[in-house]
Parts: sequence; structure tokens; C-alpha cells
Amino acid sequence: MLQFKKSDLCVEQVKLSDIAERYGTGVYVYSKNQIIENFESYKKALGTKSGLICFACKTNSNGVILKLLSKLGAGADTTSGGEIYRCLKAGFDPLKIVYAGVGKSAEEIEYALKSKILMFNVESFEELDAIDKIARKMKVKAKISLRVNPYVDPRTHSYIVTGRKGTKFGIPYKDALRAYLLAKQKGNITIVGIHSHIGSQILDIAPFRLAAKKIKDIVDSVEKNIVKLEYINCGGGLGIEYEKDQKAPSPKQLMSEIFDVFDKDRKFIFEPGRSIIGNAGHLLAKVLYRKVSGSKNFLITNVGMNDLIRPTLYKAYHEIVPVRKTNSKKVKTDIVGPICESGDFVGKGRMLPVVEQGDYLLVTYTGAYGAAMSSEYNSRPLLPEILVDGDKTTLIRKRADYRDLLLNEI
Ligand SMILES: *Cc1c(COP(=O)(O)O)cnc(C)c1O
Repeated sequence: MLQFKKSDLCVEQVKLSDIAERYGTGVYVYSKNQIIENFESYKKALGTKSGLICFACKTNSNGVILKLLSKLGAGADTTSGGEIYRCLKAGFDPLKIVYAGVGKSAEEIEYALKSKILMFNVESFEELDAIDKIARKMKVKAKISLRVNPYVDPRTHSYIVTGRKGTKFGIPYKDALRAYLLAKQKGNITIVGIHSHIGSQILDIAPFRLAAKKIKDIVDSVEKNIVKLEYINCGGGLGIEYEKDQKAPSPKQLMSEIFDVFDKDRKFIFEPGRSIIGNAGHLLAKVLYRKVSGSKNFLITNVGMNDLIRPTLYKAYHEIVPVRKTNSKKVKTDIVGPICESGDFVGKGRMLPVVEQGDYLLVTYTGAYGAAMSSEYNSRPLLPEILVDGDKTTLIRKRADYRDLLLNEI
């Protein structure tokens, strides 16, 4: 939904230069209809199979976006008590909320039980024990899946690999049977399924299939020896096309691989995050200054690593486009932010047309892990967020101001 109209770059029907004039920059801009399209493609791929598409809300937890997805029928994949809180506020049915994470605190477990969520995705023996104890104290039963680490390497950035041997996530698949046996013996635990999530930004279908096969083996022996499993949760992780030469599998391709592996009909859960919101959001920036240092051209913008940490943290690539098309020749440029760190950059060595001070640049496909990972580092107030629907724009998060920086200080 990102397109040029004549020489103006637009999100849906709205010129980004108009958004910049009206709301200022930096600003996160989302396309409502892109979010809908992305979610619907998952729903369509699920087809008549029963199950849930649980949006991984750590990728973007804006309440208006969460509400939009809950209205479309999404469930939520959460990783903290705070995310469960946001999702309940946004109208998600608690029975569509799943809760993963290696470090659930006692308070978070209690809150999740009180909220009557669909299930915990349990990541260790000790967590299983803790949930059982807290549930007993509360006189309730905790519904759980075990998050099993299938030891599959999805060959993506090491910080976002979760399903490989030697990461902190899940219960190693060799211990899975023992964990199910133990869970079966706990008085306040009800086993409802199995979960696996192997990583993020995965562009290759093979690791998904490999993981599914390993999970299937576990399911078979668990069901033969211990308990029936109602839910198969395949996690998220589908990549998106940040770069022109990348090709991402579709939800349909992903699901048909997985449905192929599991013979019987079951309830399937998928937990897409990035592939729902990633290409639906963009960060709009302004060029403050230009300079040449050594042999390099720099564009200094008003967005930094506090607003978008992915380039710094993961060496992530985001295409950067001037919002007005020009015919000028292209020059090699580093696009950086105002933060006092050399690691503060948005893009390096990009071929960009000549731009002027005050021109606007769009950092594309920053809807996932963009605003959600932003901080006030260098005492920079958090950015506003705008939702575009056709030719309408709605402010869905106000620009923070200096007073917000001091909000909880005593
Ligand atoms: C982060 C996460 C996801 C979503 O991953 P994406 O790559 O954004 O689709 C899904 N499930 C769990 C458990 C996660 O931690």
C-alpha cells in the first residue's frame, strides 16, 4: 500500500509529505488496509481447519492496532503480563490469548491465571512447577502447552534464532517426554497442547517443515504414552521482503507444509508478528543536515537508534526512500541519526538521489519491532503513530513531550 502518485510517495491515498506537515516528523505511519490484507491471508490459509491466528503483539502493541486485529478475529501471542493487560484492554477474548516467555514472574503467572487466558506456553521444568504451585494456591487449573525446542537452525540473525540447540528458549526436545510426564502428575496443570517457535525473519520454508516433523514425533509419543494434545502451536517467524531480492513464503505455503506433516485434524495455532505488521508500517524522518566526512556523505536525520534500533541491533536493512521522486543522479550516502553513538545509523552506503535539508525520507517496513522497541535514550520523547485508512489519517499515539520524560521520577 506504499505507492507513488505522480512524484509523491503515499501510504494508501495519503501523501507522506502531507502527514509530515500535519503531524511533524519523526512519526510512525501504518496502513490499516495492509494490516487487514496480511491478517486475512493467514485466515484464508487456515481455511476450514480449526485454530487460531494469534498476533505476536510484542512486534507492535499499539492499542488501536490490537483492537483492529481483535475485531478481525485474531488471538494474541503475549510474552509478558503487560502484553496480556494491553490485549485485554484492546478487547481480545482471554480465551484467545496465549502466553510464552522464558521468565514469567510469579506476579505475571497469577495475573494470567486471574485473566483466564487460553494457555501458558511453558519453557522450563521449574516454570511448570511454579505455575502448578500458584494455580494450587488460587484453587484453579492452569492450561498449558510445553514449548519444545526442536533444535532446528532457521539460519537467520543469531539474536532472533530461538529454536537452535543452545538457546534459552523452550524445553529441549530430548526432555519433552519427561516434561509431559511430569506435567501430567501435577494436580493443578491441564495439558492442552504443544508449542514451538524457532525464530524470526525466516525466508526459507525448510526449517519450518523440519521443526514440524520433530514436533510431530513428540506428539506421537506423548499421545501414545501420556495424554491427548488438543492444540498444535507452530509459532510465528515468517519473514518479509525487506530487500528487493528477498522472497518470503506466503502463509499458505507455510501452512500447507505444516498441515502436510500432521495427518490428523487438530486445532492449530499460528503466532505471526512481523508478517502481519512489518510491511504495514514505516518511519517518516526529516533531513536535518548534510555533511561530508572522510570520503563519506552523511544525511543526518531526526530519527535515531532510540526510535528504530533494528539497524543497530540486528544490522537490519530497511529501504530508505525520499518521499518526493526526483530525477537527480544518485550518490552513496550514510543515513544516520542524532544520537551520540557511532552505532546510531538508519542505513549505510545507500545510493540515494540528492536531497536537501528539510526533505523527508521514509524508512520502509518498520511496522514490526520498530515503535515497540523504541526508547527515550538521549532523553528523546517517544514518537507519535498514525493510522492511514484510504484517504483518512488518525493519530493513534500522541507525540510524547519533555514532561513525559520525567513522568515517574521522584
Ligand atoms: C516473537 C514471537 C513470535 C513472532 O515472531 P515473528 O517473527 O514476528 O512472526 C511468535 N511466537 C513467539 C513465542 C515469539 O516470541
